[in-house]
Order: sequence, then C-alpha cells, then structure tokens
Amino acid sequence: MNTVQDISSVREQVAAWRDTGERIALVPTMGNLHRGHVSLIDVAKECAERVIVSIYVNPTQFGPQEDYAEYPRTLDSDKRRLRRAGVDLVFAPDDASMYPFGAEGMTRVSVPKLSSGLCGEARPGHFDGVTSVVCRLFGIVQPDVAVFGQKDYQQLLVIQRMVADLHLPITVVSGPTRREADGLAMSSRNQYLSEAERRRAPELHRALQHCARALRAGDRDFARLEKDGAAALAKAGFETDYFEIRNAADLDSPSSTAASLVVLAAGRCGPARLIDNVIVEL
Ligand code: AMP
Repeated sequence: MNTVQDISSVREQVAAWRDTGERIALVPTMGNLHRGHVSLIDVAKECAERVIVSIYVNPTQFGPQEDYAEYPRTLDSDKRRLRRAGVDLVFAPDDASMYPFGAEGMTRVSVPKLSSGLCGEARPGHFDGVTSVVCRLFGIVQPDVAVFGQKDYQQLLVIQRMVADLHLPITVVSGPTRREADGLAMSSRNQYLSEAERRRAPELHRALQHCARALRAGDRDFARLEKDGAAALAKAGFETDYFEIRNAADLDSPSSTAASLVVLAAGRCGPARLIDNVIVEL
C-alpha cells in the first residue's frame, strides 16, 4: 500500500489500474480513522477492484470558531489501519495541491438548497467547503465509485446532488453508521468528550430512536415529536442545534402521508459537536 501526496502519482496509478480494466473506488476522509471509516472501505471493496482512501483535513469546511487546529491528525496510525483493511492507495495531499491558487479566491462548488438548514444553518459555509473539496478529489482521482457514510446524512445528499447536477460519471454509494455498543455513532470528535460527557452522549441516538419508534407507531405530530426530542437532549445536557423530522429523499418538511423519513439531530455535548440520524421507512 503506497501513500502519495502529489496528484500526478495518483493519476499514474489510477491510469495503470484502469488500463487493465479495474474499477476504482474512493473513500474520502479527514483521517483519525475508526471502525466507521473501515466499514466504508469494506463497502468500497464490494464496488471496485481498487480502493483509494484520501486523508485530508480540509480547512475550507471549518468555520473560524471551529476545531480545524485541534482536529486529530494521526497519519501514521491511520496508514497502519488502512494497510490492515486492504486499501490499495492512500492519497494524503497538502493544502497547496488541493488549492493551487489559494483558498481565498478558490473556485467554489455549491449545492445551495440541500446545504441550507440543519447543519448548514449551524455551520455557515460548511457544505460549500465540503462540495468544493470533494469535487477536487473527484477531479484528481476520477473514481468510478465514491463511498460516504450515512452518519453525515445531509452531506451524503448534498454530494449525490452535486454529482447528478454536474453530470459527474461517478456512482455515490452510502455505508451504514457504525456505532459503539451503547449506540453512540463512532466519530473522530468523540475523543473530545470527558468521561461524564461520554456517558451522556448516547442520549443523542436514544432520542432519535425514541422518535423513530413513535413515527413507526403512527404518530404524525411532527412538531411535538421534534420538541420532545430537543427536550430530551437538553435534559441530557446537550446544547441542541436541531432535532428535526424531514423527508429522507430531499430533506424537505414532510407531509403527514410521507413514507420515507429521516430524523436528524445535532448538538454540543461539552466541547464536541455530535450529529446523528435515523431513517424511518413507513
Ligand atoms: P470524516 O473523516 O469524519 O470526514 O468522515 C469520512 C467519511 O466517513 C464520511 O463519509 C463519513 O460519513 C463517514 N463516517 C464517519 N463516521 C462514521 C460512522 N460512525 N459509520 C460509518 N461511516 C462514518
């Protein structure tokens, strides 16, 4: 397993694989890898003969008050994990390769409607940073398949829309959310939690599950369910950004007859901003 930093090395390797008829799957990450990331690599292996993982902490998707500087960078242990997971190539670019003309006046890719609301409201500019960097990764690697986690549900829909709208010849595949035994979604940010916060953190998933059960049982009072969910999070000490029931397909507000819903929540538990969601098929 090679790790390369420069774009020409990735392109050469991808061209060589493609010449022999092999398909390429890309799993974009910010590193500090956990079993959730590894599960996406397993999905990627089912879709393509070759798997590339990118590791890049993208400055343009962090707000000025966010954790860009503190975000854990653990390239050596990530590489060991990726080798064990059977990854073919790691692409770990630097800022100058990703933004050759600087980040300030960079070419931006934006998916405005799906990026507004939910995390887009709490983190202005975040999704424009995500689409702008993922579009660059797609241009560099030119994968056949790209794999993203359902844990970042709004991000997944934003990227699917970008690919469809720009006619990019890439299939976007999603992988399910991997969780700790108590239900907490695995996340690099979980390590910011103190012991006491870590004990409270699974309430995010519990509140989502509680709401999902009520929806499956036929409750359609969305406003009350959202209020109850936010109250459960507040009781557990979360500073809640949102607790919302949306259409799973387009994140619009659902009608009472909608058959495919997603319940999404985000909030701060101590220093960590945690997000999670549950899909409800009725
Ligand atoms: P990140 O490194 O946090 O940017 O995440 C890279 C990819 O891993 C994204 O597609 C995430 O949605 C996905 N991911 C993060 N956490 C999990 C998890 N617990 N289970 C599955 N996928 C995840």
